[in-house]
Amino acid sequence: MNKNYDFLIIGGGVNGTSIAMHLSEMGIGSVALLEKKGLATGATGRSGAMIREHYLTPELVRMSSKARSFFEQWPAEYGYEINFHKTGRILLFGENDANSARKNADMNRMEGVSIETLDTKAVSKMIPDAVLEDIELALFEPEAGYADPVATTYAFASEAIKNGADIYTDCEVTGIMTRGDRVTGVSSNKGIFETAVVINVTGPWANILLAPLGEKLPIEPTRVQMVHLRRPPSLAKFEQIVIDHTCGAYYRNDGSPNTLIGGEAPEDMMEIADPNNFGLNADHMFIERYWSRITRRVPEFRNAICRGGYGSLYDMTPDGNPIIDRSPNTRNLYNVAGFSGHGFKLSPVIGSLVSKLVNSDDISDAYLTMFREDRFITGNEIIPEFPYGNRAHQ
Ligand SMILES: Cc1cc2nc3c(=O)[nH]c(=O)nc-3n(C[C@H](O)[C@H](O)[C@H](O)COP(=O)(O)OP(=O)(O)OC[C@H]3O[C@@H](n4cnc5c(N)ncnc54)[C@H](O)[C@@H]3O)c2cc1C
Repeated sequence: MNKNYDFLIIGGGVNGTSIAMHLSEMGIGSVALLEKKGLATGATGRSGAMIREHYLTPELVRMSSKARSFFEQWPAEYGYEINFHKTGRILLFGENDANSARKNADMNRMEGVSIETLDTKAVSKMIPDAVLEDIELALFEPEAGYADPVATTYAFASEAIKNGADIYTDCEVTGIMTRGDRVTGVSSNKGIFETAVVINVTGPWANILLAPLGEKLPIEPTRVQMVHLRRPPSLAKFEQIVIDHTCGAYYRNDGSPNTLIGGEAPEDMMEIADPNNFGLNADHMFIERYWSRITRRVPEFRNAICRGGYGSLYDMTPDGNPIIDRSPNTRNLYNVAGFSGHGFKLSPVIGSLVSKLVNSDDISDAYLTMFREDRFITGNEIIPEFPYGNRAHQ
């Protein structure tokens, strides 16, 4: 097989498919996406897939607000079901983070995000019998929720196909081909694909493809874990997302009687992993630790049934934000990776931004300037003015 496309996207996660959809919609050339396994089998399929607007920098707030509106409107308009459950999201802060949280909430409100400050009584209504003695401040984002990341990815891919794009699954890219300093195509287990433009959207695998070109993005594949607990009937109605900043735990209903608990305490984000060989199941100690953290906050979880857990990867950058940029050495190669555990909710905006970038090669858009790769050497990392302490990822 020998194929020729104007644009080749490598990686069939939510960001790769969003780019395929947006780019094919522009009608500026032929588009193909190559995915080594099935769609959404990387970080995307294991995602918490929470959609929220609360961020710690105004630019990210604006981006996520735009993306949330998209998630609310687009599926119905285009006839897709991505199961966006608008549950609301409670953020719990202890003494250390309360001041930062107040300032961040003010900034988010100025940007138009709906954020309420809750008193203890209101929290207890939403979280049955919650233990709140160490909580200094509670915030609530009523518009937040979660969606189905697999359905979202397939919806983006279907729309891309409708727009004329080709999607190849079980198609592993084995090398990016160049002539001089310019991309000419890729080699794969399905043969050579020729192209003028390659967009590398392979998340934790991004550097494997870049190594033969002498490139390395500052991305560390970092193993994270999730636990599934079957809630007891007394917690049947407990459905809000909770982000507990005192201990790094976050939890959300998964649309069934199960609650999904993730761990983002700094000590649980230290395992740099091989993306082709990492622990797919949650560790016993991790399950015990996070089950006990949720039980400390909501004691009824002591009667939950543990249904296991799984391991997955964040593609972490030093400032916890993505790289969306041209390759510094290879013309017409673009890298879109390093989403650091929050790339699901941003995906609609990423697709639109990257499509414009590869069309015009103009990096001057404010977001694109912000996400440049060289920010880590020019001292332009994305650093919040009021960060939170007990979380490796903001
Ligand atoms: C446990 C967990 C919880 C999360 N929770 C949230 C959340 O609540 N909200 C949020 O916004 N984000 C969340 N995220 C982050 C979000 O899921 C990711 O940022 C997003 O899914 C990344 O999508 P992607 O398309 O960039 O990468 P991926 O989904 O990782 O896709 C990359 C794809 O590239 C493919 N690939 C790799 N190498 C090759 C090759 N050589 N040839 C062809 N294909 C290749 C892989 O198979 C993979 O499918 C979470 C992530 C995890 C792991």
